[in-house]
Amino acid sequence: MSGRRKLIIGNWKMHFTVKQAVFFAGKLAAKTIPEGVTVGVAPHSLALSEIAIMLQKTGLKISAQNAYFQDEGAYTGEISMPMLRGIAEYVLVGHSERRHVFHESNGLIRSKVASAMRSGIIPVLCVGETLVERQHYHTNQVISDQLTAGLANLTAEEIAKIVIAYEPVWAIGTGEFAHPEDLEHAVAKIRAEVSSLYGDEAASKVKVLDGGSVTNENAASSLKITGVDGLLVGGASLSVSTFWPIVELAGKTIPKKITINKKIEE
Ligand code: PEP
Repeated sequence: MSGRRKLIIGNWKMHFTVKQAVFFAGKLAAKTIPEGVTVGVAPHSLALSEIAIMLQKTGLKISAQNAYFQDEGAYTGEISMPMLRGIAEYVLVGHSERRHVFHESNGLIRSKVASAMRSGIIPVLCVGETLVERQHYHTNQVISDQLTAGLANLTAEEIAKIVIAYEPVWAIGTGEFAHPEDLEHAVAKIRAEVSSLYGDEAASKVKVLDGGSVTNENAASSLKITGVDGLLVGGASLSVSTFWPIVELAGKTIPKKITINKKIEE
């Protein structure tokens, strides 16, 4: 497990014109990626292919922010997973803004995860509870429901390749972030759930990221937690001065051995 790479993905959301996105990607491309770290950026769909061409010869990876589950057809405004082939390595699926602003259901998210896998794109399945769910001690149940639905009908080999991002909804874009103990608990719950669905090997191989108001001030404490393989960064990924220190912190974090605890209580 000591060869476990950290993964840091910057989600640019609906920011930057194409020109601005290309300019910003150029600044990131000039940086040196620390050993043991994979860095990805998630520009909006309009900028994806231009940035993919531009970053081709750098170590930076591309993630799409969203795609539909049908391969092609009369789905105005959508792009499909097969369209991402050769452009993006990752695709965010079930981001809380997709779940809550665009009302994506667990069923739709499951179809998107399956479509990404069929198309050779790695899904970054985002899960996490709302503030009300947390206040009612429903975090474990929400994680369980979102994973059971999102990961249905995959094989253990496929599960081992995917990325799961724990992003409590109350922490996204709010400046609030999960307390290290809560984060450790949630990450352990995610692996316990994957283990019960697909076995210990898949559960230990799957990458689990933390997300929600990550900054260079709080990133180190998350990265130290057993089972956290990296970070999904929103606001702080929009400038080199706030994003790159996070990437560098990931390079300095020693990976810890993953263990699966099957009995995670709320
Ligand atoms: C995100 O977009 O996934 C995210 C966590 O955003 P922020 O870091 O701004 O909370």
